[in-house]
Amino acid sequence: MLQSVEFRGIVLFSKDYKEKDCLVKIFTEHAGKMMFFARNVQRKNNPLKQAIMNFHYGTYMGKLQRDSLSFLNGVKTIDVFQRIQADIFLSAFATYILNLVDAALEDNEYDPNLYGFTKQSLQLIDQGYDAQIITNIFELQILSRFGVQLNLHSCAVCGETQEKFAFSAYMSGIVCTKHCLQDKTLYKASPQIIHFARMLSNIHLNQIRSINISDEIKQELRIFIDTLYDEYVGINLKSKKFLDQMKDWI
Ligand SMILES: [Zn+2]
Repeated sequence: MLQSVEFRGIVLFSKDYKEKDCLVKIFTEHAGKMMFFARNVQRKNNPLKQAIMNFHYGTYMGKLQRDSLSFLNGVKTIDVFQRIQADIFLSAFATYILNLVDAALEDNEYDPNLYGFTKQSLQLIDQGYDAQIITNIFELQILSRFGVQLNLHSCAVCGETQEKFAFSAYMSGIVCTKHCLQDKTLYKASPQIIHFARMLSNIHLNQIRSINISDEIKQELRIFIDTLYDEYVGINLKSKKFLDQMKDWI
């Protein structure tokens, strides 16, 4: 019989199943994301009840199966991103990040780097760092998991690094002023936006303290990253629409 094991994970989402049970998707550190069945979890006093709620993470116990549903049996330590959970704006950013993970990664795909990156991104938002910037970094750096490799470093034609650049969807990268003339797929982001997009796509989250970006640049970055996602990724996440609508509330 399959043994119950301990594993670290972050809840991606959960949903009720029949009266007392739940299905919960967890991004585990050592086995990728998996769907778990949690029995009787909606009963009072079941410690799992809280542990499978949004924005929780911790060390769980369960039976992990690659080819079918896994079973969640218990929880050893549990933590929550408290600030995110309490703030509708922050929770909108965090939900979008978790949805991106779910969309980018196949079930059971081992990806401890993405696990660490996701956890650290949420921790930084929870600690009060700029949620939009963290989200932009996450969006840019998770592109490779969608199979998208962009060259934001140098002109895709001549390798020039010092020029002013525009972004070419056709070349999947930036092109200098000499090489952008014939390109109908050109997105003329300002040189500043290309600069910041390049920086955010390479930055390590440990360096985040040194970032300071104006609201105007942030708005342009939002548009540029949306353009990249429309062009290369093509997913429609409700959580992203919600984030976009949220801007009108302020
Ligand atoms: Zn060039």
